Amino acid sequence: MTTPVYQNFINGDFLKNQSGETFAVKNPATDDVIYHVEVADSFVQNAAIESAKQGFAVWSAMAPIERSRILLKAVALLRERNDLLAKIEVLDTGKPWQEAECVDVQTGADVIEYFAGLAPAQVGQQQMVGEDFYYTRKEPLGICAGIGAWNYPLQIACWKSGPALAAGNALIFKPSEETPLGAIKLAEIFTEAGVPAGVFNVVQGAAEVGQWLTHSPDIEKVSFTGEVGTGKKVVASAAGTLKDVTMELGGKSPLLVFEDADISQAVSAAMLGNFYTQGEICTNCTRIYVHKSVYQQFIDELKTRTEQNIVAGDPLDPSVNFGALISKNHHNLVMGYIEKGISEGATLLTGGKALRPESAPNGYFVAPTVFTDCTDDMTIVKEEIFGPVMSVLVFEDEDDVIRRANDTHLGLAAGVFTKDIKRAHRVIHQMQAGICWINSYGNSPAEMPVGGYKQSGIGRENGIETLDHYTQTKSIYVGMTDIESPF
Ligand code: NAD
Repeated sequence: MTTPVYQNFINGDFLKNQSGETFAVKNPATDDVIYHVEVADSFVQNAAIESAKQGFAVWSAMAPIERSRILLKAVALLRERNDLLAKIEVLDTGKPWQEAECVDVQTGADVIEYFAGLAPAQVGQQQMVGEDFYYTRKEPLGICAGIGAWNYPLQIACWKSGPALAAGNALIFKPSEETPLGAIKLAEIFTEAGVPAGVFNVVQGAAEVGQWLTHSPDIEKVSFTGEVGTGKKVVASAAGTLKDVTMELGGKSPLLVFEDADISQAVSAAMLGNFYTQGEICTNCTRIYVHKSVYQQFIDELKTRTEQNIVAGDPLDPSVNFGALISKNHHNLVMGYIEKGISEGATLLTGGKALRPESAPNGYFVAPTVFTDCTDDMTIVKEEIFGPVMSVLVFEDEDDVIRRANDTHLGLAAGVFTKDIKRAHRVIHQMQAGICWINSYGNSPAEMPVGGYKQSGIGRENGIETLDHYTQTKSIYVGMTDIESPF
């Protein structure tokens, strides 16, 4: 059977490359190649820039409320095609249908809707200075680039295009080479909704195509989602043309469970924050610090629920709640961390092995894994694994656990479980992390800004402030009096 070949999406349509170079995309749950994609060669890259320039001229000249109406049409189309798009995400990522059906498309649509609503509300300032005055305009940056990771491909494309387009910019988006189809479908939807040609282009490929975006002198900003190490390369490259950057990077986030916590709720949070999307979520609470007095109760319930309630298998089966990892390479990397955990002396409470579910025997599955008796110096406690591997640690003293939780160069997220309202706020205020939860974990509504402290990121996505990251302020001084000049 021949598989489809997708081209780059430029100037409102598909554009064939000249090099003929393509790459294959596999379904992580079956190991089958499901389609091929053309790489954005220099012909496509030049076309992307030219079309984005033209698209920007048209789009930025529209009234924000006009842009808003068009974006809201795209939101309606996204919701209408939820199931079709969710299936694409399941086949590309290996995540369960159960999740994609209610999260991936909807949280993407929510963010575009949110920024479409905000676009006409963005205003400048005016102030008298004597008899003269000045006013400011919020102007778009121009052509922006988005570079995405593979865990939430369509959602990431929506989270970057929502504010970028609402503010009047053109965007050239490069999805991860592991999951390129969702962004193409979004481009088709934008075009159908009436977004002018060239405003949203999709270029395909791996690091080299990303590097071209970060070098290009025609691009004003790069919004990147991916690993810390790649983010550093992107920032260094973007510095060559002094591009604005937004960096949404990795984490190794702590969850603190105090002795007065609702333990079942804390176990739910720990499981969601380690096993949802088979552990491939940047904000995951992979370091769980549990107070000594409730430690045994916590790990007993955690073991029982992990072993009884997690169903791995064909991700398209609606009863499956645990999918396959993105690739064979990533699978091996995660298994390597598990071996390291064992060799460094952590106790394997459950999991720790590759899985071969009957309904998906060739998929890249790793069992939900929990290590106990972990210490702060272990590799599994220090490094982001980006798989279903949880480390549980014990603590006794509040100040000490805060110090330990913060003892990392990462600072994406943190959580606390306690019924003591004062302690909850006191502790969370001391967490060096950009996204924090009290008696909850993982929810990220469009209204709430998200982003990392320390090496987990620069800038924010979502929330009102993000629109500022896609605009620049122009100050205009208006002389109402004669100029006083010594010349
Ligand atoms: P990655 O860094 O390997 O790749 C991300 C993107 O960068 C891909 O599109 C890739 O092709 C591109 N790329 C690779 N090298 C590049 C270069 N030199 N210049 C420009 N672009 C380049 O990350 P990944 O493996 O796709 O995703 C997993 C990582 O993403 C994890 O670390 C995870 O924590 C992080 N992540 C963060 C967030 C967040 O919002 N903070 C969200 C999702 C994922």
